[in-house]
Amino acid sequence: MTGRPVLLVTGGSRGIGAAVCRLAARQGWNVAVNYAANRAAADAVVAEVRAEGGGAIAIQGDVGNAQDIAAMFEAVDRHFGQLDGLVNNAGIVDAPQRVDEMSVERLERMMRINVTGSILCASEAVRRMSSKHGGKGGSIVNISSMAAVLGSASQYVDYAASKAAIDTFTIGLSREVATEGVRVNAIRPGVIDTDIHASGGLPNRARDMASSIPMQRSGTAEEIADAVLYLLSPTASYITGAILNVSGGR
Ligand code: NAP
Repeated sequence: MTGRPVLLVTGGSRGIGAAVCRLAARQGWNVAVNYAANRAAADAVVAEVRAEGGGAIAIQGDVGNAQDIAAMFEAVDRHFGQLDGLVNNAGIVDAPQRVDEMSVERLERMMRINVTGSILCASEAVRRMSSKHGGKGGSIVNISSMAAVLGSASQYVDYAASKAAIDTFTIGLSREVATEGVRVNAIRPGVIDTDIHASGGLPNRARDMASSIPMQRSGTAEEIADAVLYLLSPTASYITGAILNVSGGR
């Protein structure tokens, strides 16, 4: 496990994040698996990473909480002593509502987790990876959504707006650190078959949406992971500020 680059994946215990952790291990990374509540799922991903020969730890922490974020990066420092990549993957949806029904509590939670959390995590990563801070460089991949472009009318425009913020943040940060060895890119997944839809009260959403997708099917977490690992890799050495749709044409 020594000599391998170190990747932190927020929300790495389930869905897209877990697929990223598993593929990262196969491609030679050590992995820090962040999770919010589901310790058993995080431990299962850690076991899978170790089975691939990678070092791995599970780190509990709510990306909606600044203290938790600081503690999470300190845990990475203590355990691995380096950081080479960050995938800002943890994110939430909420129950379908029109904007004229949304509470301020809902909006603040959505923005705190999806936007502020990702920006704070990127900040911690830049402090460790940027040559300006004595770092050796690295790569950040932010998980946006096609919702950023489509707007999610009558479903969750707050979520769509939070992901549009991620797109803009990706462009700005990529330019801010472009000469410091840090590349910053984003993926916009389309409809991907994970637990997130049930969390928003629509357990059949991936199946129900299939006919509206040009490729006539939802995507898999593994298809998103392939794109994430490409952007993290040296093969993408001249790519920064890019936002890649992985959405079956949606
Ligand atoms: P998911 O299956 O619901 O998994 C969410 C993961 O994030 C879990 O590991 C969960 O941890 C963790 N998490 C949730 N809230 C957190 C918090 N406050 N702090 C730390 N970790 C937290 O979600 P997914 O579908 O894989 O989505 C991953 C990302 O892709 C999200 O940013 C989402 O917006 C984006 N995305 C998904 C789709 C899709 O169709 N699935 C489409 C576009 C974009 P626990 O296991 O502890 O709960």
